[in-house]
Amino acid sequence: MSQSNILDEYLRIVASVRSYVEEQIELGFLSVPASEVSMGAATLVAAYESMEGIRATVESCQKCSLCQTRNNTVFGAGSEQAKLVFVGEAPGADEDRQGEPFVGRAGQKLTQIIEAMGLSREKVYIANVLKCRPPGNRNPLPEEIQACEPYLIAQLRLIKPKVICALGGFAAQTLLRTDQRISRLRGRFHTYQGIKLMPTYHPAFLLRNAKFKRDVWEDVQKVMVEYDREQS
Ligand code: SF4
Repeated sequence: MSQSNILDEYLRIVASVRSYVEEQIELGFLSVPASEVSMGAATLVAAYESMEGIRATVESCQKCSLCQTRNNTVFGAGSEQAKLVFVGEAPGADEDRQGEPFVGRAGQKLTQIIEAMGLSREKVYIANVLKCRPPGNRNPLPEEIQACEPYLIAQLRLIKPKVICALGGFAAQTLLRTDQRISRLRGRFHTYQGIKLMPTYHPAFLLRNAKFKRDVWEDVQKVMVEYDREQS
């Protein structure tokens, strides 16, 4: 589904919720003034029109059970004008403690990769599919992904990157709706929300398996070719 289709779908849901509430008011089951219902719907739409609006929505989000075990939400970091976005799976313990993405050992490895590409963390954007840490770093559940992915889509809709680099099998499989292994997905571009997406190995995997560094380097070089093409 394209980004504009998703927004249309979102607005359609808002409109149907609004008409349901208005109907309930009409029938006397609710006593909220209609003006407040309109304002509520408008506020909901406005919340997705700015990064701060999405961030505030995430910070108070209780759409899945991970809100009960998180210490902090981990929204994302970097430039809102980034042409390149890195997307991981979910926050780990360090990220949950600090509220920032990729700040542990794997985060340091990602920083090295970004700098080797001639970029900086400030120049790109870094986010995860899930904004709250799954307990014990277990894999995200389908219902958690379904609840949380709209935030990532909203972030991408505002940033409008030219390239996404998916970090690790789980992020790549989630975004591409596939169960293919990362070893088969990496090395070539796919499409997510109309944006070119390159899957590569997760930096945490590289810490344990240094022999895959060359593969990651090949992947990010392809990303850089695309990035440079968009810059020129
Ligand atoms: S993981 Fe996402 S959907 Fe679940 S509570 Fe956190 S922000 Fe909300």
